[in-house]
Amino acid sequence: MGLTRREFFKLGGGGIAAIAGAGILGNSLLNNTRTPLRADATDIKYKHGVCEICEMNCAFLGKIENGRLVKLEGKPKDQHSRGSLCAKGNAGINMLYDPDRLKYPMMKTVPDRIPGQDPKWKKVSWEEAINQAAEEIRKAIDKYGPQSVIWIGHNKGNDFLRAIGSPNNITHMSTCNAVRIWATNVTLGVANYVPDFENSKYILCFGWDQLGKGKNSLARGMIEGKVNNNAKVVVFDPRLSTTASKAHEWIPIRPGTDLAVVLAMLNVIISEERYNKEFVAKYVDGFEKLAEEVKKYTPEWASRISDVPADTIIRIAREFSSGCPAVIPIHKREAIQVRPGGFELVRACLAMMAITGNIERRGGALLPRIAPLNNPAPKVKPPEIEVKERVDGGHLFPLAVPAPLGGTGLYQSVPDMILKEEPYPVKVAIIYGQSLQSMPQTDKWIKALQKLDYIININIYPDDMATMADLVLPESVYLETAHISPRITNARYPQIAVGEPMIDKLYDTKEVDEIKYLLAKKLGVEQYMPALRGKALLNYRLRRYGITYDEALKKGGILNGSQKFEPRDLTSLRTESGKIQLYSSRLEEMGYHPLPWFDEKWLLHPEAKDEFYVVTSRPAVHRHAKTHNMKWLHAIMPEGFIYMNSTRAAELGIKDGDMVELTSRYGREKGRVKLIQGIRPDTICILHGFGQKSPYLKLAQNNGPNDSQIMPAYPKETNIALKDPVGASLDCHFIVKVRKV
Ligand code: SF4
Repeated sequence: MGLTRREFFKLGGGGIAAIAGAGILGNSLLNNTRTPLRADATDIKYKHGVCEICEMNCAFLGKIENGRLVKLEGKPKDQHSRGSLCAKGNAGINMLYDPDRLKYPMMKTVPDRIPGQDPKWKKVSWEEAINQAAEEIRKAIDKYGPQSVIWIGHNKGNDFLRAIGSPNNITHMSTCNAVRIWATNVTLGVANYVPDFENSKYILCFGWDQLGKGKNSLARGMIEGKVNNNAKVVVFDPRLSTTASKAHEWIPIRPGTDLAVVLAMLNVIISEERYNKEFVAKYVDGFEKLAEEVKKYTPEWASRISDVPADTIIRIAREFSSGCPAVIPIHKREAIQVRPGGFELVRACLAMMAITGNIERRGGALLPRIAPLNNPAPKVKPPEIEVKERVDGGHLFPLAVPAPLGGTGLYQSVPDMILKEEPYPVKVAIIYGQSLQSMPQTDKWIKALQKLDYIININIYPDDMATMADLVLPESVYLETAHISPRITNARYPQIAVGEPMIDKLYDTKEVDEIKYLLAKKLGVEQYMPALRGKALLNYRLRRYGITYDEALKKGGILNGSQKFEPRDLTSLRTESGKIQLYSSRLEEMGYHPLPWFDEKWLLHPEAKDEFYVVTSRPAVHRHAKTHNMKWLHAIMPEGFIYMNSTRAAELGIKDGDMVELTSRYGREKGRVKLIQGIRPDTICILHGFGQKSPYLKLAQNNGPNDSQIMPAYPKETNIALKDPVGASLDCHFIVKVRKV
């Protein structure tokens, strides 16, 4: 359903700019402007807010006219928004006023759990809802132990699980950013780094479509690096992505072989002695062993595997090591990372930046500057968790994040473990911020969820997941709540954004922290939960800066640390040696390869005429599966599709807009094709986040193919056999058959 012309113009200048510029810079044309007052607006207020649609948490001013939020304007002083929000951020108002939102707690009254099927919901009070949820949790704990209660989704379940004694905080991170976090942690002792695009002269991307994702400050930084600083941009990607289309050079590499190319580039840089000897001697540990290891990875070897000519590999390696500031950005969930060897690829990219002296150098990769916050302890320290073994195997990977709680495990292996009741039965799941469309091999997940005794879903929308839950607890939208948000991703300098509710809550909803506390209280374990809540918590979090929450708002909602760039000491990193760690003894002790390496057995290849490699991509105007019912974003992109090479499609008798069926070893899905020339003939690309069935989302229902449906959810034995220390790189490890239907 699109916007009518009348509705379109009712949005005013901001809304129009948001749609016209959708994709990359949102309302940048409106920087630093205030929209004119409407003649009938008698009560105008501006409030400080923080966008929660993605992890950039851009800060904005919300304009409220006669009690209604009408516009969000990025704050110029925020290092992320820098005066403009992306299309998704602008459309946050749609989420707040979405008539389809969950408005009160509801219980399912039919026994079946089928996504999108009428659950015959019954409206209940919060008291009834919490009573029933606590009773089901109590029953499971009494009979099967606290480990039978699991939290699935956004990483916010730790405190509640700790209070009840379960180790099972199951996050989706192994399908998302775990590879980047763990590899960066091993190498640099931090979870992420800042690609300093603006000061770079050479930006080398492996399947990283930042401009296509439209992540505000990262996308803008890359454009500024290219346009203002004359950086050369080179993109390896099987598809002519948005980033590739703006680059100086696009190299359509064979899917899954980027690691071979990076290892060959390391070979060239080291064998031709083009590395930064002084930097390596001072700050790098394991260089000699890396030099020995990469001797076998020649450009000719990589060329045979990747389809990239050897002289192209050699030329780009030489350009990258010419001495200019150069960077290889890594974010998350790129198709390159979600394959076997993804962990090694991130380490190899970091090694390439390290040996060329591009770590903690302007224009290279900077360590993040994150402002810490106080976190309140519980009144009473919770008892030790007795069962340490996690359902997702997180206890097997204690590399980067402390296990059992807070660790990341093999998310993809969870449905198998639930179905087989290994290592023990799971009975109750609390699912928060997790859609079915982000669950690989979705049908297997559905079977696993159907096996549970009880599902509690904390959600904003009545989506497919909500229709499967026994109890739906409505969460407040971020525009109705307060925020203290330190910059974590792409934190160029320490900065905290502070936000207030734009308006009072519209419906009978609660924040997730309050829901957890009410559940803990009903279960009699609230003394183990964080001791502070509400305004007291907000003030405590800022206390180390000598400022209260209200004072921070009065100061403009942005707290800045020093913006001066002072390089950090690279001999006291939190790594094994204190230096940049290329060779990891810890990995070796755990039975993994201590250096980045490549195994051709990781590669799968299409063999029949109708078989293809698969890559996935996320559109700039949607965030996972959670923004598809937002009116303006739906107007821009109502349906997901499958990119296919037009020449290859003609050979198969497939025309633009045809419906095709995709079949992998793991599932089947149908979707519409979009024919382009800018993709390898042997590869298709599916947009992620679509495939919603729920009839309660009037805009998003039936919005295209669900890419997760045909992805593998491997058991942990497969991860172990593939020697993957993260267990996180397998989403795109499959071949698909395409058939016109
Ligand atoms: S990049 Fe866009 S969606 Fe993400 S926080 Fe900023 S405005 Fe919101």
